[in-house]
Amino acid sequence: MRIGAHVDATDPLDEAALRKADAVQFFLADPQGWKAPQPRADAAQLRGSEVDVYIHAPYVINLATTNNRIRIPSRKLLLSHAGAAAEVGAKGLIVHGGHVNAGDDIATGFDNWRKAFAQVAASGGHGVPVFVENTAGGDNACARRFDNLARLWDAVGEYGVGFCLDTCHAHAGGEDLLDIVDRVRAITGRIDLIHANGSKDAFDSGRDRHDNLANGMIDPDLVVEVVRTAGAPVIVETPGGVDGQATDIAYLRDRVGR
Ligand SMILES: [Zn+2]
Repeated sequence: MRIGAHVDATDPLDEAALRKADAVQFFLADPQGWKAPQPRADAAQLRGSEVDVYIHAPYVINLATTNNRIRIPSRKLLLSHAGAAAEVGAKGLIVHGGHVNAGDDIATGFDNWRKAFAQVAASGGHGVPVFVENTAGGDNACARRFDNLARLWDAVGEYGVGFCLDTCHAHAGGEDLLDIVDRVRAITGRIDLIHANGSKDAFDSGRDRHDNLANGMIDPDLVVEVVRTAGAPVIVETPGGVDGQATDIAYLRDRVGR
């Protein structure tokens, strides 16, 4: 089982070595900004590395929104990150499930997702696997509660989209971690990546504050069970820098086996 961490983008392979990680995830540009990624000097090294590379798309991307001024640039930004992710040999590009605004019909959000993928599919695809990630908060989210996730998958499933399950987001979003792997698979048919995170907040709090696995409000045995049953690669997006994340990676390896 490949286990790694979300790390600073400056020297991801160094960060992987410091954590004894098999995989890294990082941003290719400011996660709160709209700038397209710049070419990386270490692209060939990343492509040739034993360490698996995952790219997290910026948080500002919202493919669901009815706001044209967000939705259209979101498609463009996702596509530019997909191109740059392919350049570094990424195994996946992770993007959040997005949301519509209060008062909007969420059906429009799912349709916007479908259109985004249909448009790219018609012009050759993203060039890298895209994984939609479940999110923690909001009343109008496409991938917080699994009743909505099922509607999202009805819209995008045919385009070969992958799924990234975040344990903190599920817990804070109000989806019980017990049996969650089976419930996700019943909807998506697949889990491509696990974000194995603890949560500083209570079940269904809607808050997105990650914690280390042995701390926080999620029973770590539940996270271990998710990792074991999903059988997918794992990224910890936990605090504490090298020490905190190396401890979380070792914690999972000790309990899940390799
Ligand atoms: Zn995550």
